Amino acid sequence: MEKIDNFKEYLAKISRYEQALSLIYWDLETYAPDKSVYYRSKALAELSEMRYNLFVSNKMAEFLAYFAQENILRDLNETDKALIKVADKEFEKIKKIPAKLVRNLAETTANANLAWKQAKENDDFSIFQPYLDEIIRLVKEEADSLGYEKNRYDALLDLYEPGLKTTEVSEIIAYLKENLILFLNKLLEEGKEPRDDFYKGNFDMNKQKELSLEALKFMNFDFSSGRLDTSVHPFTTKIGPRDVRITTKYSTEDLRYSLFSTIHECGHALYELNIPAVFFETPLDEGASMAIHESQSRFWENIIGRSLPFWNYFSTRIKLIFNSFKGLSSKDLYKGVNIVERSLLRTEADEVTYNFHIMLRFEIEEALINDKITTKELPLIWNDKMKEYLGIVPPNNSLGVLQDVHWSNGSFGYFPSYMLGNLYAAQLFSKLKQDIPSYSSDLEKGEATSIINWLKDNIHQYGKMVEPQELIYRVTGEKLNPKYFVDYITNKYTEIYNI
Ligand SMILES: [Zn+2]
Repeated sequence: MEKIDNFKEYLAKISRYEQALSLIYWDLETYAPDKSVYYRSKALAELSEMRYNLFVSNKMAEFLAYFAQENILRDLNETDKALIKVADKEFEKIKKIPAKLVRNLAETTANANLAWKQAKENDDFSIFQPYLDEIIRLVKEEADSLGYEKNRYDALLDLYEPGLKTTEVSEIIAYLKENLILFLNKLLEEGKEPRDDFYKGNFDMNKQKELSLEALKFMNFDFSSGRLDTSVHPFTTKIGPRDVRITTKYSTEDLRYSLFSTIHECGHALYELNIPAVFFETPLDEGASMAIHESQSRFWENIIGRSLPFWNYFSTRIKLIFNSFKGLSSKDLYKGVNIVERSLLRTEADEVTYNFHIMLRFEIEEALINDKITTKELPLIWNDKMKEYLGIVPPNNSLGVLQDVHWSNGSFGYFPSYMLGNLYAAQLFSKLKQDIPSYSSDLEKGEATSIINWLKDNIHQYGKMVEPQELIYRVTGEKLNPKYFVDYITNKYTEIYNI
């Protein structure tokens, strides 16, 4: 079948533009000198346009029309069928959104991003508010162009978590609230907070790096197919086949920051690195969705990296690097990475409180997109919800409604992915424990291979071939079920906080 090979060659050509784009992006975030940014951004824009034109070309339309014929599609293998489906979905999506809207969004968000930074610096929401209004107007237009059945917000959710509906997210949230708000109160009122003073302070950067490398070694990160660098906000980027790069940030105040950022990003990287070579340079060569990706990073960061079996192993490693930990037991070190706090910032939230930060953002976004509230009311609504879910009120808007960059980028519908990632991770963990009874003794020996292989067989090897909810169903035998997360959290923290 020659035509399918021609199509793949065409997709590979598009992918090569994407590889160049990724490399420029990575460079901008890591090593590019300040004065290069202006011109480099122009190069990015130029290449993006070329990539876009190749994707929406007549040639692409011809290929997709050809493979849409039933007698042709029927004879393709499963992988190629999935490839056509994913390429077609992306093509249809781009076609539906008018080019003028794409331009307007790009321009508006560029300006909005600056306004957001100013607003945050000056603690003045009114600087950002008019830009936010304009973004919401455009994002609503985008949702309307994409189309939806019941709720306009569904169209936006689908961009990040294909097939997920607003009603499903609402049901999940209701369940989490019912089971976790009271638990959190009890934990903080009756529980005994562990010590964590030994993690605080200015640790030597080179030694912090050594610790990160130790964690990467444990996770079998392949340095012949990746790198570790530093950036302001840690991230993972796939440049192309056999090149997945992660970054971390070495804090001068807390040793945990770089360690868990590195583990988190390596969780993303293992996913990308384990996608099979047959998918290379095609749209299948990426994760199933944002939330499934986040399930992998959160799995490593929290479920493994913040577990006792891991610390039974890792405490000996950390003590070899830092003398100050010598007198502490592995249990002390384990408890010290599991502190629960009512915190203002989503990015600093622990496992127990993290999802509350997402719930309030989801509820606000859904209401904004469906014209149930106005941006003028936002600071007040934000603070009310913080009080209700987390029991604290931000002292100012910079630490409240202005804390995240997402809205200034027009990324409405993105936040729920973080929460779903946590839930997927717990559900996968429950199945993994059944499938690998030796998982905890493996971890205690510093052996992560059985876990990595399990993730590879069940998740990674499918790339973008299978849609997220179908994937979870196939692996665990049921659809997304928040009960696993609630059980995991309540069992773990009841023990740590001794309640
Ligand atoms: Zn992540």
